[in-house]
Amino acid sequence: MLITSLASGSSGNSTLVCSENTCILVDMGISVRKTNISLQNKGIDPKRIAAVFITHGHSDHASGVHTFRRAFRVPVYGTYETSDIYVGQRGGYGGYQEMGVELDNFIKEGEDVQIDDLTIEALRVSHDARHPVAYFIHNGNKKVSIITDLGESNPLLEKRVGECNAILIEANHDPLLLEKGPYPDMLKKRISGARGHLSNQQTAKILRRAVNEDTPILLAHLSKVNNTPQLAIQAVHGALRESGLKMEKIRALTPYNDSTEIRV
Ligand SMILES: [Zn+2]
Ligand SMILES: [Zn+2]
Repeated sequence: MLITSLASGSSGNSTLVCSENTCILVDMGISVRKTNISLQNKGIDPKRIAAVFITHGHSDHASGVHTFRRAFRVPVYGTYETSDIYVGQRGGYGGYQEMGVELDNFIKEGEDVQIDDLTIEALRVSHDARHPVAYFIHNGNKKVSIITDLGESNPLLEKRVGECNAILIEANHDPLLLEKGPYPDMLKKRISGARGHLSNQQTAKILRRAVNEDTPILLAHLSKVNNTPQLAIQAVHGALRESGLKMEKIRALTPYNDSTEIRV
């Protein structure tokens, strides 16, 4: 399996996951133009995308998906509460930059979705959107995770992370930089809260319980203001040193069209 990032961070998120035969995207928080350029830079024809899975309705995860869905007739999956239908009937959560997403299929926890030879499983996470999820994607005996936008962990998430051969996980902020930084107090509270985003240290704690020396890790959704790749990698590496994981197995994604690829 291949995991690589088209975009990562508060200005847009999209991750490409492929088996030998099948490619899907998790989230599309960038324009179709940018998505196409980034896919082509990675040697992937956009027509090859078999489905898009949306983690939640924040615009940095879903803003480009409506146009892409129409242009390429790609089915879009997400939880019912993320859909424009739910928003139309029940009203929005009114959360931070949340939109109703046009979905073709609803994904439920505990029910796997099969897209050709990829099996996709959703797991609820704690974040300030209507029903946000992380995705675990299997192909044969390989399993990878895409976990972004969550304020705290839970035992089931850590169990699932422990089953993965490669992990993409958020390391959003350094707590000191956030505290001393320029954001208004309300936003600082939101980010550091239980329904906000993981700090480098929270991410390190999840990984410490879950990884072994061979597990490649991609740190994602780094804040440009409240984090640096060096701080994120150091925090995770420090916590994982005892597991024997080498520093070069831990990489932090840059905001757009990162060339890092993980193959497992
Ligand atoms: Zn986000
Ligand atoms: Zn979010």
